[in-house]
Amino acid sequence: MKPLTRRIHYFDRHWFGSASELCRREETPTPSIILIGCPDHGMLPHGLPVQNPMSFLVAQWLGFAIPPFTKRCSETVEALEEAVLGHEVTDFIVCSHTTCGICQNWLAVPSNSKKAIGSETMTPTLEFIDKHYDDVFDMERFGLLLSEHVLLQLESLIEYHFVRSRLNDGRLKLHGWVFDEGTRRIRAYDALVGDFVSVESDACASVTT
Ligand SMILES: [Zn+2]
Repeated sequence: MKPLTRRIHYFDRHWFGSASELCRREETPTPSIILIGCPDHGMLPHGLPVQNPMSFLVAQWLGFAIPPFTKRCSETVEALEEAVLGHEVTDFIVCSHTTCGICQNWLAVPSNSKKAIGSETMTPTLEFIDKHYDDVFDMERFGLLLSEHVLLQLESLIEYHFVRSRLNDGRLKLHGWVFDEGTRRIRAYDALVGDFVSVESDACASVTT
């Protein structure tokens, strides 16, 4: 896995929560964790190594792109804000996965094609990789796409006041995950390291049976 280029994302490490703690957290009476993911990842969060699936609100859509902040709010963001305001949401997860057929298709599409389904959501990430990474092999490019797409969506998310204010006062935590379906392990973004690291949690592993 090609390491991420550091210093191109600027996250406060205090905004991030512990993946292992979240995985083993007890169920909450109402959903408290918003999970944003890919529609070909199956019925999330089932399949993920979490012990509290009823605590999740799941949003899956093609490209799972969160639009950057503008004065005109998008329906996607309005729905997320409504969910945050309507529930006691404590965590936001953006999750990609290693068998993502949609991302594989995007990589196979010629870069000048405008007609690929979802290309408008993935093109910014591919352009971002081209700008910041040199000498990338095809498999590395796929790994970077999974990782950087998650981080770019988190960067968009924190532009919104309903997210940023809650991060700053500690009511909300972020999580950037890549789920490896081969090992059934989560790799979570560590803002201190500046890269995704395997979640060292026996609890996470033990609930994958
Ligand atoms: Zn997918």
